[in-house]
Amino acid sequence: MKKQFAVIGLGRFGGSICRSLTNNDMDVLAIDSDEDRVNEFSSIATHAVIADATDESVLKSLGVRNFDHVIVAIGDNIQASILTTLILKELGVAHITVKAQNDYHEKVLRKIGADRIVHPERDMGQRIAHNIMSNNVLDYLELSDEHSIVELIASKKMHDRTLIELDVRANYGCNVMAIKRNDDIVVSPQATHTIREGDILIVIGADNDISRLEKHLL
Ligand code: ADP
Repeated sequence: MKKQFAVIGLGRFGGSICRSLTNNDMDVLAIDSDEDRVNEFSSIATHAVIADATDESVLKSLGVRNFDHVIVAIGDNIQASILTTLILKELGVAHITVKAQNDYHEKVLRKIGADRIVHPERDMGQRIAHNIMSNNVLDYLELSDEHSIVELIASKKMHDRTLIELDVRANYGCNVMAIKRNDDIVVSPQATHTIREGDILIVIGADNDISRLEKHLL
């Protein structure tokens, strides 16, 4: 059976989630208190309704508790975002993802039991910063405060050398999870895999280890 999603708040972030889910053939209930936003999504989402999500009786009557996953993408109105999350939690929604505006907002959301908290602007800012700092860093994904996954473009220094020669794991404490060359991708490459300049390495490790690797090998 298809998974049922509800997206509350149809701004840039919620709207983008809603479009992606429907493009991938998912059932989506789109909710916003703003009529124009709802009209915009009436031809995109499976259902689109005008509703104030901080009103428990409205969420109940929409049957939101039966949805597999509810995304709270209410922007600046932190109070409405927290109250909505609390109601969803009390209704017993299986999985709740919430967009947080700042660290305080995140702290409260965590306390009331949001399953996943996302900071799209902060995360995208970090990814772009890493990409700007080094031309060889294509992408960056924070796993925790101290660990990340990065996509690096192999430099001249790495050309024609095997993973064992570079010994990324022993020298830098990082692991190369995959190597991309044009459209080919080798997942969990062997130690004997030879790297060419321009290959894209997907590396996981502690942030300071990744920084050392970037300094020495890129
Ligand atoms: P973004 O930064 O993702 O563009 P916005 O602040 O533009 O976010 O969008 C948030 C959306 O959430 C707006 O469309 C707004 O109407 C909606 N919204 C705000 N409060 C509520 C609420 N209580 N119930 C439903 N929708 C709400």
